[in-house]
Amino acid sequence: MIHHHPGDELLLPLAAGRLGAGQAVVVSTHIEGCGECRARLHTLQALGGALLEDTDPVALGPGAWERTLQRLDRPAIEPPSPAPARRSHPALPGDVPWPASLRGCASSGWRWIGPGMRYARIGVPHEPTASVYLLRIGAGRSLPRHTHGGVELTQVLCGAFDDGRAVFGPGDFDAADETVHHQPVVQAGTTCVCLAYVGARMRFDGRMASMIGGWIGM
Ligand SMILES: [Zn+2]
Repeated sequence: MIHHHPGDELLLPLAAGRLGAGQAVVVSTHIEGCGECRARLHTLQALGGALLEDTDPVALGPGAWERTLQRLDRPAIEPPSPAPARRSHPALPGDVPWPASLRGCASSGWRWIGPGMRYARIGVPHEPTASVYLLRIGAGRSLPRHTHGGVELTQVLCGAFDDGRAVFGPGDFDAADETVHHQPVVQAGTTCVCLAYVGARMRFDGRMASMIGGWIGM
């Protein structure tokens, strides 16, 4: 049962192909497991198509067709993305599947950040500078209290956490920003794994947490 979904402010740019790749992998991972958001995305995509059909045609400049053909013949203009660290991915607890939206993304192995806490860095080919992480936090453990320098998107893959605003369980999505000051606490009984996009550095209350956050670029 999914209780928390991404809003239209994320689904609309995703439908239009305008959401940054780092945020898109997190929102897409949610959509993989959420029929409600999948249907909403299809509606928004259909709406976008209808709007495009209703748009008055604009005359193309001279030579536009030839230039387009030339571009098609040319190899990709984009610089090649850095070679992925590894293609295999870190193991997820139990039978939690690796999200299809992360196929093609590079991933580090699990790295220690504190007692009962590990993270893996995810490399997104189309936005190599995006801060995307998997966080694995043991039952009863908590992330240090923090706020954000920008948007933070979180998709729960398994387990559940409570940050004082709500309980986020498997399949739930959360968007937080600088107005949210919270401490996610993982519920007893299960390990929690989340996929997170961190738009700007997190601001931890504690000095130790700030230092560790700085080390891993979170
Ligand atoms: Zn949803």
